[in-house]
Amino acid sequence: MLYALDHAGQKINASPKAHGVCPFCQEKVIAKCGEIKIWHWAHTAKTECDAWKEHETAWHLDWKAHFPARYTEVAIVRNGEKHIADVCLPGNFVIEFQHSPISVEQIRSRENFYQDMLWVFDVQEAFKDQRLFVYEKTEIPCKDSRYADFIQFVDIAYWKHSRTSLSLVKKEHLLNLYDDILFNVLWHDKKYTKIAGETIRQHVFIDALYNQHILGQMTFS
Ligand SMILES: [Zn+2]
Repeated sequence: MLYALDHAGQKINASPKAHGVCPFCQEKVIAKCGEIKIWHWAHTAKTECDAWKEHETAWHLDWKAHFPARYTEVAIVRNGEKHIADVCLPGNFVIEFQHSPISVEQIRSRENFYQDMLWVFDVQEAFKDQRLFVYEKTEIPCKDSRYADFIQFVDIAYWKHSRTSLSLVKKEHLLNLYDDILFNVLWHDKKYTKIAGETIRQHVFIDALYNQHILGQMTFS
């Protein structure tokens, strides 16, 4: 996790010799200040306190670090169940970053729990191995007004041996192809082998989220 709580209950970043507790289970956590991953915190035991949270990769930490602390690693409690959203923007809009393959049941339970959400899936390996490639430019105009200034036409991608569970994702989702390049999925076939969408850069995606969920919620009275 990117943040622990200090003795005053404030979210703090990891740094050498810093002390903090997990904001969710209140257990003492250890500051991990290495050279590869962004400095972060980890539980002393091998187990994470939220069963939904997989072992955190550098990819996870990098993504979360793009959002302000107050919107990052937010506990959400619903019907006595508690989970930690990677990012939760005003209006309870959740963003989940998913690196490992995930089962259909896991997809369903998270979508039902968070309700208003979108996914970012890490597909960099498939893209690098050329099992997933953006194949052609179409002349289908982009209808998503959030990106209309940046995108003119919809792209088609093909995915050999795709993650079939993705075909059952009901919420909006994007595929992180490589570095800061995302594919915003607008349509896919039943097996998730043919996908139509838009290639956008991470900063365009994040700006669109801010405009929609943060600036859109501001009141000027
Ligand atoms: Zn914990």
